[in-house]
Amino acid sequence: MNTIYDFHSHSTASDGSLSPTELVRRAGDKGVDCLALTDHDTTAGLEEARQAALDSNLRFLPGIELSINWESHVFHVVGLNIDPGYEPLQSGVRKLAKIRHERAEEIGRRLEKKGITGVYEQALQLAADGMITRTHFAKVLLERQCVPTLQKAFDRYLGRGKPGYVAARWTNLDEGIGWITGCGGTAVLAHPRRYRITASRLRKFLAAFVEAGGESIEVVCGNSNPEDIHISARFAREFGLLGSSGSDFHSPESSWVELGRLHPMPADIAPVWDKPGLGLAANSH
Ligand code: AMP
Ligand code: MN
Ligand code: MN
Ligand code: MN
Repeated sequence: MNTIYDFHSHSTASDGSLSPTELVRRAGDKGVDCLALTDHDTTAGLEEARQAALDSNLRFLPGIELSINWESHVFHVVGLNIDPGYEPLQSGVRKLAKIRHERAEEIGRRLEKKGITGVYEQALQLAADGMITRTHFAKVLLERQCVPTLQKAFDRYLGRGKPGYVAARWTNLDEGIGWITGCGGTAVLAHPRRYRITASRLRKFLAAFVEAGGESIEVVCGNSNPEDIHISARFAREFGLLGSSGSDFHSPESSWVELGRLHPMPADIAPVWDKPGLGLAANSH
């Protein structure tokens, strides 16, 4: 049987709706053999997930999904097999938490100006002790019936150029990738087909990503169609990147993405799970 790797997922430590324990259990139920938890800008869920994985057949890889500014764009870079105890990573994450809180307050003020009051307080409550994200605002807007769907909350209020959109200075490519590689982790460009950017800009970014120490790209995502995979695989070949595969699972309610439900990696792409440094290769255990 084929081993199922899912190297991109979220828990209540950021904008996922399952606790790390529930996430690991669901991954096991869905046949995932190896799961990475990659919450937005936080490592807070990793210890719980690691513990939960000890009671299962599943192998667990600690990860993170960092928000990174490059030129005028925001990219998401997944770190795989990171060490949550690495001090530069932790101080980076504390900095990002502060930025997220300040941005959330500002999103709240912008929505108040549109006559929608108290959303910040509710979003904060929903995020509980997890990292606050736009997803929490979207959920509050949906719950309050300001919008008919989560997607519409982004389309009307939270997406780029909309009234509740607040640009943030996260981290830069060198610094963010340094937090990952400095503790032995592997940097992976997340969901390359989801950025609203031309192919030539993406190529320019990929050159900078490789230069900064990036090694892998998500060739297969939870919502990839065959064309997405084809195009992403081409970027992997062109830039000599390892292929990663991850669902970007957030919640059981979004039925079009499920843990471990992923197309196979194209045969000529070297998968990131065979990289000896990840500790998963057949000859490394
Ligand atoms: P943030 O990092 O706080 O800006 O929030 C980004 C998160 O919002 C992403 O990781 C997605 O989970 C979610 N998101 C962004 N755009 C959309 C969208 N159009 N529809 C649904 N969720 C989205
Ligand atoms: Mn998210
Ligand atoms: Mn992302
Ligand atoms: Mn994600």
